[in-house]
Formats: sequence, structure tokens, C-alpha cells
Amino acid sequence: MPFLPKRVLFEQDALQYPLGRELLDRFKNTDAEIGILKSHNRVTEIPGKTPQQAYYEGKSTLVVGVRRTLKFESCKPSAHYQLPLATGCSGMCTYCYLNTQLGKKPYMRVYVNYDEVLKKAEAYIKEREPEITYFEGAATSDPIPVEPYTGLLAEAITFFGKQPHGRFRFVTKFTDVDRILDADHNGHTMVRFSINAAGIIRKYEHKTPSMEERIAAARRVAEKGYPLGFIIAPVFIHEGWRKGYEEMLEKLRSELSAFKGARLVFEIISHRFTARAKQNINEIFPSNDLPMEEAERKFKYGQFGYGKYVYDSGQLKEMEAFFREKLAEIFPNGEIDYII
Ligand code: SF4
Repeated sequence: MPFLPKRVLFEQDALQYPLGRELLDRFKNTDAEIGILKSHNRVTEIPGKTPQQAYYEGKSTLVVGVRRTLKFESCKPSAHYQLPLATGCSGMCTYCYLNTQLGKKPYMRVYVNYDEVLKKAEAYIKEREPEITYFEGAATSDPIPVEPYTGLLAEAITFFGKQPHGRFRFVTKFTDVDRILDADHNGHTMVRFSINAAGIIRKYEHKTPSMEERIAAARRVAEKGYPLGFIIAPVFIHEGWRKGYEEMLEKLRSELSAFKGARLVFEIISHRFTARAKQNINEIFPSNDLPMEEAERKFKYGQFGYGKYVYDSGQLKEMEAFFREKLAEIFPNGEIDYII
């Protein structure tokens, strides 16, 4: 399901780049409204009076821009730097961690000057040689839904394939992987899929592909020799939670049996929320039934000065034991990066 934006807004300068012009030609032939932005940092063309309208209209908008700041943000602990190719995501997951970061109209933005971004990445790699430098491509976006149009990931993957000291990784919930399948990755890019129990996806991960579709896409990526990982998140611990996750793991077993001996990396994250996220979520999805009862959770102070509500340590221990046991059985060579 590639992203089909309702409107595509181009920064004027983006049309000086081949990819900007190519995207304009492509979207001119669709039903999308086309707009040209006068100022690159003010996107005022998106309608929406209520928080819900603003959210839905934002999510239906693609902005094609030029990345001006070429200073990369750090991305600890999973990588050294964020690779700025895109921001935002066309999914509408109720619990989304980006909800508090992208403003009231969370549009998706892609950058057409990827050559300059990759040149800068090369400079960062040189600075740290002979150490390996890791770059994360999905710190503030899910870049796969626009990949069929932009090919930005394929460009980045090919670039990192040639870098002896540079590595790339990104995570997605989407399945539009065709364009990256034949990129010359040289084992330097790890593709991670974010998966969840089928019922959780249906209930909370709106506008994203099903669990089965994601695992099928992961298999196609693994067949091309990419290092592969799975983020199982957010894990919800509720009445009968094991059943849904057992079914998900069985699906992994059947689809990926050919890669049983391969090195697969797993990251497992239990559900947590902040007071601010809860407020935003309730504004956008007023009738959501996301479990966010403070009284049922433990409050934990976070490193950035705001606290979050997590499951209590007994529940977390149970969750950890469950995933360790099952994953060891299904993928004896799999690696669990962390369970939190
Ligand atoms: Fe947020 Fe990821 Fe869902 Fe997109 S797919 S809405 S980034 S949680």
C-alpha cells in the first residue's frame, strides 16, 4: 500500500533537483492537489480546524523539500547519527511515538537533495575512521511508504554498500520494499520490521499492512541477503496476551524457516506512555480504548526529565521470559538486542 497523498506540496527550491521535478511530473498525473510552497519552513496550506481534522489532513499531505541543515542529529543508543532523508509517516497508529513530535499537522516530508545528505554522511564516517559509524534512517519517519516514488532508501543502501566504515539501518511497518530489493547492500544495511500480534495491528495500527503482509515482506528482504531484524512493539500485556504473540511467532517460524540459521536480531519493547502523549492521543482519537490507566502502571522517571507509565516489574519479567523462551526455540541463532 504505497502512500497516496491527497495533496503534494513542493518547496520551490526542490524543483531545482531532478528528483523534485520527477515527483512533480508524477503527481501531476494523479488526483492529488499540487501546491508550491513559498517559504520552506512554513507549511500553511494544510486545512484542519479541529485537532482531528488537522491530524487527518496532515497525514494526507506529502511535502517535497530540500534539506538545509546538514548537521545530523545523534541517535543513541541504536546508531551514531540520524540520516535525514524523510520525516513523518503515512500510518495512523493510535499510540504512535511520533504523535508528540511532529506538530498538529503531521505531514510527511521527503528531501530531494539526498546527494548532499549522503556526502555529509561520508564526512561523518571519515571523522570516525577506523571505527564503524552507524546511521539510522527511520528516527523521525517510516520511510518505506514513499520509497516507490523517491527511491531514497535504495540510494542510501547503495551508498552504504560502498562504505567500508559506514553502516545503515532503518525500521518499518510497511511492505513497499520492491525498490530496495536489488540495491547493492553488501551486507551494510540492516532492515528491521516492526511487528505485533495481528489483533493489536487491527485495533491500533491504522493504515498499516497486516502482520502477515509485513512478515512476507521481511522474507523477500531476507531472500536478498539483507541482515534482518524485528522490533516487536509495543507489547501489550492484557488478558490472554500470550495467544496473539504466540500466533505471531508461529507465523515468523513458518515464513522464515529457511533463515533459521541466519543471524536475526530482535528488539522487544513493552507499551509505555507519557502524560503528554495520552492527552494528544485522546484529542485525536477520542473514543480510543488504548490501555492508558495510570493506576494500572508504574511511574518511571525518564532521562529527559519527563516520566512515563510502564508495566510493573512482575509483568515485565513474565513478558521477558515468554519472548526469551519462544525465540530461542524458533531461532536458535537469533539475537535479542534488548527487552524493555
Ligand atoms: Fe507512528 Fe510507526 Fe505507526 Fe507511522 S507506522 S504512525 S511512525 S507508529
